[in-house]
Amino acid sequence: MILPVVCLQCEKPLCAGSCPTLAIAKNSKDILVVDDELCIGCKDCMAACIYGGIVMDPPTGRAIKCDLCQGDPVCVKACPYAAIVMLPAKPDGARERYGGIETLSSSYGLVKEEA
Ligand code: SF4
Ligand code: SF4
Repeated sequence: MILPVVCLQCEKPLCAGSCPTLAIAKNSKDILVVDDELCIGCKDCMAACIYGGIVMDPPTGRAIKCDLCQGDPVCVKACPYAAIVMLPAKPDGARERYGGIETLSSSYGLVKEEA
């Protein structure tokens, strides 16, 4: 199985909750992004994200993550096999059909089930 490591735009983002400077927040397009001006490079968000969806940018010493290309992801357009699908943020038929990341994660043992 190939499981891409990318930010999943969590509904309850652990990265944002861990950030001491509130540098991670939704922009006007409802996309979670990192504010370079506020990031101090503490790496708390990296430690908090259980999906490996946020990393440090060595040249700047600040956090970087997928920003969905501002709503029009290049990876989705570039894949000739349509293997990458951008699902709506809100639960609907498509999300239910694919199961969502919570289902995938628990299926492959990436997240410990709550008792
Ligand atoms: S960086 Fe991690 S915790 Fe934050 S929104 Fe992306 S996947 Fe979720
Ligand atoms: S590295 Fe930047 S974005 Fe991440 S928790 Fe620290 S200040 Fe916030």
